[in-house]
Amino acid sequence: MLDRRVYERIAAGEVVERPANAVKELVENSLDAGATRVAIEIRGGGVDLIRVRDDGVGMDREDALLSIERHATSKLASIDDLDHLSTLGFRGEALASIAAVSKLELVTRSRGAPYGERVAVQGGELVSADDECPTEGTAVEVRELFYNLPARRRFMKGPAAEGAKVTEAVERLAFTRPDVHFVYVSGGREILNAPPARSMQERALSILGLEVARHLVPLPALDPAARIRVSGVVGRPQLARPNRGQLFVSVNGRPVDSPLIDEAVRGSYGELLFRGRWPTAIVDVAVDPSKVDVNVHPTKREVLFREQEAVAEAVGQAVRAALAAADLVAEPRVRAAAPAEGDARAGRGPVPQTAGSRQLDLAGGALDEDRLRHAAEAGSITGEPVEWRDLGTMPSWLASLRPVGQVLDTYIVCEGEDALYLIDQHALAERLTYESIKASAARGRVKGQRLLEPILLVPTEAQLESLLRRRALLDSLGFSLDVLDDGRVRVGAMPAVLGSGEGRAEVEALLQDVLADEGATTVDAKEAIVRRMACHLAIRAGQRLDPRQVVGLLRGMAGSSDPLACVHGRPTVLRIPRAELERMFRRDE
Ligand code: ADP
Ligand code: MG
Repeated sequence: MLDRRVYERIAAGEVVERPANAVKELVENSLDAGATRVAIEIRGGGVDLIRVRDDGVGMDREDALLSIERHATSKLASIDDLDHLSTLGFRGEALASIAAVSKLELVTRSRGAPYGERVAVQGGELVSADDECPTEGTAVEVRELFYNLPARRRFMKGPAAEGAKVTEAVERLAFTRPDVHFVYVSGGREILNAPPARSMQERALSILGLEVARHLVPLPALDPAARIRVSGVVGRPQLARPNRGQLFVSVNGRPVDSPLIDEAVRGSYGELLFRGRWPTAIVDVAVDPSKVDVNVHPTKREVLFREQEAVAEAVGQAVRAALAAADLVAEPRVRAAAPAEGDARAGRGPVPQTAGSRQLDLAGGALDEDRLRHAAEAGSITGEPVEWRDLGTMPSWLASLRPVGQVLDTYIVCEGEDALYLIDQHALAERLTYESIKASAARGRVKGQRLLEPILLVPTEAQLESLLRRRALLDSLGFSLDVLDDGRVRVGAMPAVLGSGEGRAEVEALLQDVLADEGATTVDAKEAIVRRMACHLAIRAGQRLDPRQVVGLLRGMAGSSDPLACVHGRPTVLRIPRAELERMFRRDE
């Protein structure tokens, strides 16, 4: 038989897995106690010290002694509450568990009481209990976590890694209660100081910084009568990240792990996010507590919903509505170029002489006759308004775009609603080509375009095998391929897609690229090939466009389902608002 204390210690180690869990439990207790300010301090990643201090209701002597006993929750008012309580994760074992595996000291004073209490526990054994005279509220100090559980202690990562997990836990908590002041210090350094905020954006400002906060859009106002209420903010696609690090999800105000909600949020972005990327979002889902189960795992707080689909749908609806209402054109922070000091010619340096540059070289002095003639022959883009066909709803910024020209053979410059717009011609063309291939593929097959002069490829054996495996797929995408007796491959037709008329080099490169890919012959393989086709067949950077092509691209943009991101998730359009230009030219001073 295991000694009771040993058994309890092991059980406690299951509830408190690492410093981050302990911090979460302690801070949640502070919030439950009605704190308006919570100060968290850790040392050694939380293994050496965790201190959480709050200005909540505090505890009297009896409660303080009870609080460190297992199953001593003061929150279990009646049995009717059981369902409700389990939702919020009240099991009355957090403090007892932490106390069992550390040296814990609790200093607390309940509101209005003349004095307070200090209770010290070591490995679950009460060491002392004295009167004290602290300020109102509670401070819990946890030293040497797992000192009596060496196996668990060895399992800890280094202070930096454990500290990072604590930071993440604190951030998540701070997002659930923007009205509470959070201060967080690690190793003597203040990591976070979030004063009470009136909105989630304001809270995000103090946690994630201005560059993130300015790209957050609020979810639509809540319907208080709805069964599932989704609130929070979601980030513009440009805030997407390769992991879920900026996806903060809570249920009924408690941070939880919910792959269901994560996916529902991400799914709402559709093509705005490249696959594998995660958006930035802070989302709370409020549901009837009897419809969720939070305690699937004691430490991770994975959450299970009784009505999975309804929850996913409500989240999706809210996020899609927010994104649809938002203006998602990327607005980068542009820094005015400061002339280098001591350089007399600074700011008027030679303009790069790219072959196709159509800008007038004012800095260089005389206008080059040749170049002007060249520009005239190519036809001017300037001033030609785009005639929009009736394309149904179109964002107003897009409807008002007027192309001004092309620069650096790569970017289309437009004037729009009180702003300058820059479009990456390849990024946009790639998106449009991708959509058009997908649309034709969905309707049946992509039409092939006979090549006047067939292309002959000399594949390696592996490539040939890969090609034969994907023959049907390539056929359906508009290629016509024949294997000749000598092992060469004759390409007689290629997909007729937007802006085609590309050189053989591109087609060859595309086929080499496709053949080199050893991927499976699944739906994914098709998607991969379509993306590759888009990339290779679309108008490229460094290619001079004639006005017809520019207008074609802008029209395509108006008809696109997702014109703001290329297939790799890069932005296609940047906007520099008038105010930003004024700032750069210091007109606003
Ligand atoms: P639970 O939160 O599930 O009730 P805990 O072990 O986390 O269980 O806490 C036990 C009890 O201790 C709580 O129910 C509460 O009464 C009391 N308590 C813990 N921390 C605080 C605090 N910071 N302020 C006031 N009371 C607290
Ligand atoms: Mg608790």
